[in-house]
Amino acid sequence: MDFIPLSSPDIQEKDINAVVNVLRSGMLVQGENVERFEAAVSELTGSPFAVAVSNGTATMHLSLIALGIGIGDEVIVPAFSYVATANVVELVGAKPVFVDIDINTFNIDVNQVENAITSRTKAIIPVHEFGLACDIEAIMIIANKYGLYVIEDAACALGATQNSKSVGTFGNAGSFSFHPRKAISSGEGGMITVNDKDLSKELKILRNHGLSFETGKMDFVKAGYNYRMTDFQAALVVSQMERFQKTLEKKRKLANIYLSSLKGSGLTLPLVPTDRPHTWQTFHVLVDNSIDRDNLIIRLRENGVGTNYGAQCIPAQTYYFDKYDINSKKYFPNAWLAYTKGLALPLYEKLSDSQIEQISQIVKDLTN
Ligand SMILES: *Cc1c(COP(=O)(O)O)cnc(C)c1O
Repeated sequence: MDFIPLSSPDIQEKDINAVVNVLRSGMLVQGENVERFEAAVSELTGSPFAVAVSNGTATMHLSLIALGIGIGDEVIVPAFSYVATANVVELVGAKPVFVDIDINTFNIDVNQVENAITSRTKAIIPVHEFGLACDIEAIMIIANKYGLYVIEDAACALGATQNSKSVGTFGNAGSFSFHPRKAISSGEGGMITVNDKDLSKELKILRNHGLSFETGKMDFVKAGYNYRMTDFQAALVVSQMERFQKTLEKKRKLANIYLSSLKGSGLTLPLVPTDRPHTWQTFHVLVDNSIDRDNLIIRLRENGVGTNYGAQCIPAQTYYFDKYDINSKKYFPNAWLAYTKGLALPLYEKLSDSQIEQISQIVKDLTN
């Protein structure tokens, strides 16, 4: 059996040709393909406005800035996510306030959010972890009650919904990433979905050095950033957008094979709430307490299967531990459990049914 990596982007000839066409045109930065990409994400999510930027972290950084969040403010984030979710809060000088996750879904535990709200709280960044929508409806009820902004970290959740409404359209801003680990990829890339026209204008000014054409001529109205996407990156991902629904269907089919073939292994399998279909950016399981997860990763690699832990317990990372000194094991037991016993298995478009069955068999052999 050839080695099966944890992830591998599906780049086809036609995607490559789309990139080459842009390179030949000489128009390399933020042109018609970026606009096409924005329109495609608007259509897929049902969001009236979409603003492409250079990566998924930039989406959240710019959103926080555009919403005026900064020094002295607090922002609620889940304790278990990719570290960028909290880093962006630090980048604007605000304080991330961590909330534990629900161990069944790996998403923020909505029952603990209100306890974390103080007079300084300005926003919540809920994460749609691993491609499963969090209970964003419940989050919006809390946010509206306390007058908080919501930036949805939907970096890995393109196509995810709650009651048929797309993630990224509930809060003030939705953040998507197109890193190669996500369902479709531009190499590096990000998209902000917003309902508010003024906010979308502000984000477009901020991503491009503070440049505005509002008065009909070039005018630099802010000290902005350069968070533009290149046009060849956009072309690469626009080409993949055309088969996105098929990609999603294929991944759901593969995930269902895992769900049935991994029954009876030493693993807790992911739960899928009925109102929130999973998009399976990551197939993330928990290994039983008796199993040494890190050793299992090594043994799976020896057996030809690439796996890794799924996401970080953020307050336990050196920067956050040194700064806030929180005992994660005690205060965020579920985030700690997911961080120490979580395992991401290979799941992407290019894998076949039989490869998923093979992986399942190896996992079962090593965990029983
Ligand atoms: C991938 C990811 C990010 C960061 O996206 P980049 O495009 O790599 O900057 C942020 N949050 C979550 C939950 C992610 O999975």
